[in-house]
Amino acid sequence: MQSFVCFILACLALVVAPVYGAESKREVDAKKCRKLLPDEYQWQARDWSHLQVTDLPRALKIFPEQQPDCALHAAICADAESKKTIVVDVDVFFKDSAIWNRPEQLPAYMALVNRYYQQASISFNFKFRPANELPAWTGNRHQLTVIFASAMPNPAGKIADAFGNLPAGKAVFNDVLMNRQDKHANPYFMMGKPLGHELGHVLGLAHTQDKALLMTQGTSPQNALDILPEQALIMRVMALQRFGGKFDTVPACH
Ligand SMILES: [Zn+2]
Repeated sequence: MQSFVCFILACLALVVAPVYGAESKREVDAKKCRKLLPDEYQWQARDWSHLQVTDLPRALKIFPEQQPDCALHAAICADAESKKTIVVDVDVFFKDSAIWNRPEQLPAYMALVNRYYQQASISFNFKFRPANELPAWTGNRHQLTVIFASAMPNPAGKIADAFGNLPAGKAVFNDVLMNRQDKHANPYFMMGKPLGHELGHVLGLAHTQDKALLMTQGTSPQNALDILPEQALIMRVMALQRFGGKFDTVPACH
């Protein structure tokens, strides 16, 4: 009898464990994320309910004609206009950078990016990948990719601090960026802003002049990390249409 009871308990454990395990992992992840950043770094989703994909300002787009024809792609447009969180995988590579070359250097910055991208209800699922899997510049163009390099030129042949390139689906951060001495009230600003700013370019955003906005060029103590509702919608379309974004009720690290 005793062994029968044990057998039943073992079965119960098998049935309960996966459900309990999934929930507790969620809780563990949430706690881990809270530890990475102080709670004051919080952003709320913007309201884009009054906007339509077909009517977004051209000046905010890096390619003015980039949005889909909503008559042909009604589902993408409706999904982008919804309030649901979109999760997008981002492959992260280290390529000869003398400064950024270990995964443990980056989680706080990635958590900050995910916090301020809550304004667009977009959550990046950053995945560190081995260097030998780094695709060619024009390869794997539908996979959002981040590369930490020593001095990788942009498509125009220039060594920029950092750049995001929509056609290639890639954002590059060169060592020159990390050697700058920018000072900010928010200690996570460097690299927290460049990481999300370049992803913004890859997701279709152009530069803006307003220093309160993430898409302002450069960094300065006056910069903030705001995303306009129009910019949120531009990126949501791109995340869904181009980079395999999926709805998920359990976003990555916030
Ligand atoms: Zn830029």
